[in-house]
Amino acid sequence: MAICYLGVGSNLGNRRKNIKLAVKKINGLKSTAVLKESRIIESAPVGGPAGQPDFLNAALKIETKLSPINLLKELKEIENDLGRVKSARFGPRIIDLDILLYGDRVMAGKKLTIPHLRLFLRDFVTLPLLEVL
Ligand code: ADP
Ligand code: MG
Repeated sequence: MAICYLGVGSNLGNRRKNIKLAVKKINGLKSTAVLKESRIIESAPVGGPAGQPDFLNAALKIETKLSPINLLKELKEIENDLGRVKSARFGPRIIDLDILLYGDRVMAGKKLTIPHLRLFLRDFVTLPLLEVL
């Protein structure tokens, strides 16, 4: 069982509802439970196309038996379920699910980098994370 921290973001549609639904689906993943949920904060987009809507962001503490790569797969499936479509890098999205930390693992692969590359660069990631650590 690994303790893991996730970042959740949305800036399209009913943002709060998207985040709530994603949390529910994450809690429903096999061998996985959501242990703590941060408050939801709002912030202006960083990077990406000009004029995109503001984001809501939150962080989760979870425990899981899924491996990092399988967890990523499941998170991407949830993103797809919620209707996320490919768009510009850092562009608008219904939901974005990122693995911030996974136990004490450190890895830099093609598909997965842990800790998340931009973890320490952005207040909208670190502030919610601090609430659930
Ligand atoms: P963003 O960087 O804005 O979150 P995406 O959500 O589109 O962009 O993610 C792009 C790719 O980043 C994913 O397809 C995934 O393979 C890769 N990736 C690398 N490290 C991580 C991580 N720690 N958590 C989630 N995705 C990651
Ligand atoms: Mg992402």
